[in-house]
Amino acid sequence: MVEIKNPLYDTAAPSTQALHAADHLQVTPDVAAPITVSTIYEYSSASVTANNYGPDQRYVYAREGTATTTKAEAALSTLTEGHAVLYGSGLTASLAVLVELKPKKIAIGHAYFGVKKVIEQYQGLVPGVQVVGAECDYAGVDLVWIESPINPTGEVLDIEKYALRAHAAGAKLVVDATFAPPPISYPFRQGADIVVHSATKYMGGHSDLLAGVVVAKDTKTAESLRYARYILGLNAGNLEAWLLLRSLKTLPVRITQQSATAKRIVALLESHRRLAVHTACHTPSAEQTSVGKAIHGVQHASLQQICPPFDVARQHPHGFGAVFAVNFRSKEQALFVARHLKLHAFATSLGGVESLVDWRHGWDVTAEPTLLRVSVGLESYEDLAADWKQALLALDDHERKQAAKL
Ligand SMILES: *Cc1c(COP(=O)(O)O)cnc(C)c1O
Repeated sequence: MVEIKNPLYDTAAPSTQALHAADHLQVTPDVAAPITVSTIYEYSSASVTANNYGPDQRYVYAREGTATTTKAEAALSTLTEGHAVLYGSGLTASLAVLVELKPKKIAIGHAYFGVKKVIEQYQGLVPGVQVVGAECDYAGVDLVWIESPINPTGEVLDIEKYALRAHAAGAKLVVDATFAPPPISYPFRQGADIVVHSATKYMGGHSDLLAGVVVAKDTKTAESLRYARYILGLNAGNLEAWLLLRSLKTLPVRITQQSATAKRIVALLESHRRLAVHTACHTPSAEQTSVGKAIHGVQHASLQQICPPFDVARQHPHGFGAVFAVNFRSKEQALFVARHLKLHAFATSLGGVESLVDWRHGWDVTAEPTLLRVSVGLESYEDLAADWKQALLALDDHERKQAAKL
């Protein structure tokens, strides 16, 4: 059995794992992994079917695996507490899960719209596949697919609850944990059978690579996934794998910092919203009204009503993730703010070191047109807070000028 993972780092801290979990695959004296781009390798003199992985790694053809891909998978496997297989994108990884499990009836909840499109493609290939909601009865369901935290609000689901329900029905639970990579969440601990990540987001973290990961609990499933990847050519390229390997080294520090800043920005925007509201014991100042009156609501796991027995602290020992949503009173307000935030790029995607703001309705018509999704980067809290304030004040100024014209 092929073993890529080095169990030596299983109990190390995430930041140590991120730096050293692929060291055993380093066969040259380079401290930084070399960039290798070859798609073909000379046959070993001993045997052309030699072990393709491990310290004596010998590769034949890139679709079967490459040194860089394997290193990225070693680091990913240790970090995710499973056996990781790397793909060309998050959606390719989702397709690979369907090819592996061959479900006949899928229960899927709030999920990335692209994943639902992949399931439609699968339904086109395999007639008779049914799709129901994740809250429906699981009779006949063989695959339950959930996402946590969910897009675009950053709110979390009780993974254990879905695992218990899925397993009681004889179904497998797949968790798309793109919004909460390790050490933010570890869905196997709550009973997930397979974990999926779009590595394009936090794992890559610099908005410069497209990749996806499927993490299996056992090597046998990982091997089966790897075989189908080889047959179907669903691989990530060598350069992307190298960028990912490099990015993973800072994943734990990036995501915990981004997550902590996000929680503070969420609290700030929620306080701006509250302070603009007249109550029996609070009369908003002129500035409080100007800053907060356009904010209709803020959504993030840190503000979510959590009902027992969901132990959210157990599911999220190091934070909730760095994506949240803000609802404005109108679509025009949302778009104005998106265009006037200076430290936030108005662009899609999430998980990069630069803060981003996206108008999800443009991508997914089921998202409210008044909603902005925010992905908090590594800028300081103070600078991001000032950026929000100037954008909200610019909106107030704009609205006053519009009103004066009427
Ligand atoms: C982006 C994303 C995907 C798709 O990943 P790609 O790398 O863009 O193919 C899947 N799930 C979630 C939650 C995502 O955010």
